[in-house]
Amino acid sequence: MKVLKFGGTSVGSAERIREVAQLITDGEPKIVVLSAMSGTTNTLVQIADCLYRNEKLEALDIIQNLEVNYYITVTELFETDAYIHKGKEFVQTIFTYLRSFINKDFYPLQEKAVLAQGEILSTTLMHYYLEECGKANTLLSALDYMRIDKDCEPDYFYIEQNLRRELAKPEIQPLVITQGFICRNAYGEIDNLKRGGSDYSAALIGAALHVEEIQIWTDIDGVHNNDPRVVAGTKAIRCLSFDEAAELAYFGAKILHPSSVQPAKKANIPVRLKNTLCPQDEGTLITKDSPAQNIKAVAAKDGITAIKIKSTNMLLAYGFLRKVFEVFEAWKTPIDMIATSEVAVSLTIDSTEYLDNILHDLQKYGTVEIDRDMAIVCIVGDFSANKEGLGALILEALAEVPIRMISYGGSEHNISLLVREADKKKAMTDLSRKLLDLQP
Ligand code: ADP
Ligand code: ASP
Ligand code: MG
Repeated sequence: MKVLKFGGTSVGSAERIREVAQLITDGEPKIVVLSAMSGTTNTLVQIADCLYRNEKLEALDIIQNLEVNYYITVTELFETDAYIHKGKEFVQTIFTYLRSFINKDFYPLQEKAVLAQGEILSTTLMHYYLEECGKANTLLSALDYMRIDKDCEPDYFYIEQNLRRELAKPEIQPLVITQGFICRNAYGEIDNLKRGGSDYSAALIGAALHVEEIQIWTDIDGVHNNDPRVVAGTKAIRCLSFDEAAELAYFGAKILHPSSVQPAKKANIPVRLKNTLCPQDEGTLITKDSPAQNIKAVAAKDGITAIKIKSTNMLLAYGFLRKVFEVFEAWKTPIDMIATSEVAVSLTIDSTEYLDNILHDLQKYGTVEIDRDMAIVCIVGDFSANKEGLGALILEALAEVPIRMISYGGSEHNISLLVREADKKKAMTDLSRKLLDLQP
């Protein structure tokens, strides 16, 4: 059994839905995880933003335009009047539900319910289309098995138990269609796995069922050795280890949700990235062991804030770092990078939700400086301790880019550098040109 996840572009039009339907109906049993059609979740976010601001007319306008697009998709997708009618009726139910929020108070709970409609729409349309083509399949609601706990972490036990129970029902067909992204929280309310979370859904399902492979089908031929949105001439990497892929995903390679590698790594299930637009392409295979390579890939993450805490008492003091880390723990804010000297520590955070509280608490321990709008550039390769010269090559490649922090040695396969967001493109391009043998 395999799990196949198709992203927004892969199901972004009637034509694409038909192509995916063809790919998944080869007679092999599988679980197919779908994202919302491309653009839908962004539009639902806009609707939610309007509802928060109580801009009713604008919300109605956006709902109306999206609804019209879905009616067009339905007309293009189905052949028979019966299914066009069935599809339109379903679309109408969803949009009536969205309109029902117009005259209510709007809270994060309602926002989650609004955002969930994209995946509910795409999976139901696929389910109906397969039915119309005479292909037996089951539409399984992710809300019946996917769950996060009070810390917003996947509830592995619940997911496995409930997924297995649902799949053991006698009416279940070998081809199962389900939603990515959406789940319930510890209180049973509709929630989600954060933007881009369908990859994570697929990995969690794959790990829960110990499948032979998790496939992520998207609009590019695998993980590239640099961000194709930023640098020209990037190339697909054929093999990556779980750790390398996790570093790239965490540090900005949008092709994979940052958490999606962990469940696969834990259960040791290969992850294959494939291109829906070119299914014969080999793609990228992520496994436990992958041949090491000096420098394999570069990724970058924007919106980073650097914090420097300078302590006059740090000289030969112990316990200082513990106190600093406790502040971040208390405010549930993960630290990405860290660099220390005898009198100061610099670290970076991605989420600034509690920045004011953190700064207030840190001031007890010394003077605090912050730099906003920074970017972490992450270089993935084989940086084992016995290697020589790689650090020098990287710094030489970045000779024209001011570097605020460096983290080397935390992991054998990652070197991270902190640069200004404005210098990110140059840093990534120079690394590509000088180290990855690309044309800029
Ligand atoms: P999906 O909708 O299928 O989930 P995403 O848009 O989330 O697709 O991810 C695919 C996109 O990720 C690609 O189109 C590409 O622009 C972007 N991307 C960023 N970094 C990388 C990388 N290192 N390798 C491949 N794609 C990347
Ligand atoms: N539809 C969701 C999003 O756009 C989840 C996903 O596509 O993975 O973020
Ligand atoms: Mg994605």
